[in-house]
Amino acid sequence: MENEKIKKLDNENIMHTYARYDVCLTHGSGVYAYDDRDKKYIDVSSGIGVNSLGYCNPGWVKAVTEQASKIQHISNYYYSPVAGELAEKLTKATGLSKVFFGNSGAEANECAIKVARKYSFDKYGTGRNRIVTLENSFHGRTIATLSATGQDVFHNYFFPFVEGFDYAKANDIESLLSKITDKTCAVMLETVQGEGGVNILDSDYLKEVRKICDERDILLIVDEVQTGVCRTGKLYGYMHSGITPDIVTSAKGLGGGLPIGICMVGEKLSEVMGPSSHGTTFGSNPVVCAGAKYILDTVNNPEFIDEVNKKGKYIKEKLLKIKGVKAVRQQGLMIGIEVEENAGDIAKKCTEKGLLIITAKTLLRMLPPLNITYDEIDEALSILKKVMEG
Ligand SMILES: *Cc1c(COP(=O)(O)O)cnc(C)c1O
Repeated sequence: MENEKIKKLDNENIMHTYARYDVCLTHGSGVYAYDDRDKKYIDVSSGIGVNSLGYCNPGWVKAVTEQASKIQHISNYYYSPVAGELAEKLTKATGLSKVFFGNSGAEANECAIKVARKYSFDKYGTGRNRIVTLENSFHGRTIATLSATGQDVFHNYFFPFVEGFDYAKANDIESLLSKITDKTCAVMLETVQGEGGVNILDSDYLKEVRKICDERDILLIVDEVQTGVCRTGKLYGYMHSGITPDIVTSAKGLGGGLPIGICMVGEKLSEVMGPSSHGTTFGSNPVVCAGAKYILDTVNNPEFIDEVNKKGKYIKEKLLKIKGVKAVRQQGLMIGIEVEENAGDIAKKCTEKGLLIITAKTLLRMLPPLNITYDEIDEALSILKKVMEG
């Protein structure tokens, strides 16, 4: 299908909820995506941190296709060995106790919110149901997760929103304390705010938040939808600070390109959700789980994670040498670039020159495949340099 036809079909038939770049991607391999005219793009956005091992990683494709030809879906009325195996890998790797399988980040966070409210309801009765989230957070697009998102721009049009969220300043303990009351049941945060502009939360702050929550039996929910699955150079971002959350959500990179969103809870919460308290038709889909199992087996090993950290630092050093780069916020391969010019304009020019890079607020953002090579990094950054230095 030719380029104009592809765009016409999209524009005439798909809701205009996205401002797209002028690119039609039709196939990919590793860090490279190709358009309908076979033009090659090096992609350091990974479908917003989803394609953890790049496009069509052979091991992942094999795991997924083998499972698809064995059994593609069963309802949650029946047991699935694949889901059980994936859940065991996750609980072993995190020390958490139980997993709920859903299909997206927002759904994972919906589950987290429900668990937190039910825990508090069961133990303290009605009224103790408020959740403190952070300014500049992003937790999803459903009504409840939009309400949880601490950005006014998201609290529009769709009234009424869900009650019960209070917003504190990130990295500011006083602000958090001023929002906590005897009605608070949970604190919810991202260890690095992705959509909010790659804002890294301090380790000391996270430890203090954990302490405050412990003292008040307030649950700590960590939204690892973007930071999870080795993106930040640890299996989960909270592991940098040595804290143990009560609830962890994970999505994007976990599926390696298929939709998955999980909510994991610690021992204290393992029995909060009983039969009929929650559910979703596609959750724990065997094909998706087979892919996620492959992703976890590949990325969750010390040498692989070590490389993620080294590559992140390598990228940061190189970026800081580019004219027009003001600062770099980097943890593992989650990278925000403060630039002098308009980030959106730069991203657009990069796209034209064959580099797929995205933005976060006023920053450029890189979420390259976790297995990107040094040569590929050099290739991507040389395009960025050319665009920025002219
Ligand atoms: C992307 C994202 C979400 C929403 O995930 P969806 O899969 O789009 O629903 C939630 N939280 C964070 C931190 C995210 O980055």
